[in-house]
Amino acid sequence: MFDIGVNLTSSQFAKDTAQVVERAREAGVTGMLITGTDLPESEAASALARQYRGFCWSTAGVHPHQASSWNDDIALQIGALAAREEVVAIGECGLDFNRNFSTPQEQEAAFSAQLALAAELAMPVFLHCRDAHARFVALLEPWLDKLPAAVVHCFTGNEEELAGCLSLGLSVGITGWVCDERRGLALRALLPKIPVDRLLLETDAPYLLPRDLQPKPASRRNEPCFLPHIVRQVATWRQEDAQWLAQETDRNARRLFRLA
Ligand SMILES: [Zn+2]
Repeated sequence: MFDIGVNLTSSQFAKDTAQVVERAREAGVTGMLITGTDLPESEAASALARQYRGFCWSTAGVHPHQASSWNDDIALQIGALAAREEVVAIGECGLDFNRNFSTPQEQEAAFSAQLALAAELAMPVFLHCRDAHARFVALLEPWLDKLPAAVVHCFTGNEEELAGCLSLGLSVGITGWVCDERRGLALRALLPKIPVDRLLLETDAPYLLPRDLQPKPASRRNEPCFLPHIVRQVATWRQEDAQWLAQETDRNARRLFRLA
């Protein structure tokens, strides 16, 4: 099973990165994609992926929260990072109108520029969309025929938005959000509507500790070693075999990000 969303550069992992990676392996995780969210984090993600070569890969990009940092120099440096072997996608990039840490205008400019960069480099994109579906689709759609693949990570949208993403040919990343009995039930009901070849699974660690995980770690920190729990739960709600789903979603990740 492959974890497509690990924020391994988070300060929450600074003290025990090696143990976190080892625990993931022992839990049956077969690979992970380390998320880059701005230029320094993308550089750090690439360095970690090199350190754990063959088990970790990374993305290079600027998250919508950090979109105000986007400029021509950062674009060049993200482009340079993207040439590295372990960097397999541009992102995470997209729109987040939930908190607007950068203005919508800044977010749209940074998103469009990263789509153009990914198209120029013919690289997959790792996308983030929150409360911004209509603008997200409007900006993304013109680029889709130039992008080899695209995944909307941590999908939390509604049925109509899911149908929209699927009709555009996007793959969908599901996190432990779906394990939340307060806010994850609507998404849980949509799980069977995602074709298995478009489904990817992720922890988004250290965020989004699955609320139904037992026992809970004292730190409340999410880790990639909890991916098997998410796989089991998603398989149950899709009425599929967990081991089979783990293999299928691992295969999807390797195909989408073109991993050796
Ligand atoms: Zn995200």
